[in-house]
Amino acid sequence: MKIEILAVGSELLTPAFTDTNSLYLTRRLNDLGWDVARKSIVGDDADDLAAFIRDAVARVDLLLIMGGLGPTEDDKTREACAEALGRKLVYREDLYAAIRERFRRWGRDLPPSNAKQAYVLDGAEVLENRNGTAPGLRLREGRCEIVLLPGPPQELEPMFEVAVWPKLRERGEGATGRRVLKITGMGESDVETLIAGLYPPSGGPLRLTVLSAPGRIELHVTEFSRVKDVSVFPGLEALSRELQNRLGDHVYSTTDEELEEVVGRVLRARRQTLACAESCTGGLLAGRITGVPGSSAYFVEGFVTYNNEAKSRSLGVPPDLIRTHGAVSAEVAEAMAAGARFKASADYSLAVTGIAGPDGATPEKPVGLVFTALAWADGAETQRNIFFGRREQVRFQSTQKALDMLRRRLLRPGGT
Ligand code: AMP
Ligand code: MG
Repeated sequence: MKIEILAVGSELLTPAFTDTNSLYLTRRLNDLGWDVARKSIVGDDADDLAAFIRDAVARVDLLLIMGGLGPTEDDKTREACAEALGRKLVYREDLYAAIRERFRRWGRDLPPSNAKQAYVLDGAEVLENRNGTAPGLRLREGRCEIVLLPGPPQELEPMFEVAVWPKLRERGEGATGRRVLKITGMGESDVETLIAGLYPPSGGPLRLTVLSAPGRIELHVTEFSRVKDVSVFPGLEALSRELQNRLGDHVYSTTDEELEEVVGRVLRARRQTLACAESCTGGLLAGRITGVPGSSAYFVEGFVTYNNEAKSRSLGVPPDLIRTHGAVSAEVAEAMAAGARFKASADYSLAVTGIAGPDGATPEKPVGLVFTALAWADGAETQRNIFFGRREQVRFQSTQKALDMLRRRLLRPGGT
């Protein structure tokens, strides 16, 4: 089964927008054991689109096209398809009525441009859009099945799930299992050394890919099975277990959780609380923690203390300590954590102070130097790190390090 995906939209060819729909579609096709042979992006140009579609239908069994089904002048997918396949666009009164009804429910008049969405490619099946006005279309042209989907993800995903995926599943040739191991606190080459010899032979059903980003490394394990609808993948299980054995507690998730979700889950279960004090991350840490639904069960308060005076006023960091060691120091990080823990009456507190750059470095304190601290009832620890990358990467890695310090402490047997 040869499959291609075509994203339509001139905006996707600018630096401002990314085609994310194809990632979603690829994942769901992989679930059925299929790979995507090619992904393409074509702008809102009817001739370019028609030429692409004409070539594609001759080489693939399934062509998923998304975007350009809207009511505006630049939405040309329907017309381009008609042109490429030599089919008429047929007006469908029932579709027009459905669109008009949708506008009536919104309390708005139907703009004349929306009438365009009531035209259907001759011979195509209409796929209902429960979340927007643009209907999807499915048609066959020779060996190729063509599916036209709306561009907005909140319309495309439900339509694909309801009207497309179940039919594809009947034709599925197998299944793909997937597991992601997320790692932090070690570099890519250290991971590579630890997992040496575990790479499965290429061309086989098992695959292992290492993806590295600042503050996080992911190991993606997939296994293809020729059996449809299986949910157990023995090779994947065995390889994941072995990877975990080798990497130990550097693995913070095997279930796609982020660090803030992992620590949140544990804090919640133990009915313990958390506060944080931030300098160079300016609220990013509190933002990540509170991005988790239900975090009010354990998160008490976050302090963004950017200048020295704020560190003293809000957290009680002694001005002398700042004068002696500098605001970016282990001593101040620890005092910030202790202060926030005390002010918020929390069980744990995290603190971050560092130089995110690009300015602010001194000969002793380079850009990327970050101190993170964790305070708990009867102790505290600080870490000194130098993070590489741009400002946002330094800031992200700082939050990653802080959350990981908490995670590791929570993991300790009988840990407080
Ligand atoms: P359209 O159906 O071309 O009018 O697209 C409407 C909107 O859907 C666009 O403005 C984008 O925000 C979004 N969109 C279109 N194509 C994609 C895509 N491939 N990935 C993610 N979003 C998309
Ligand atoms: Mg568009």
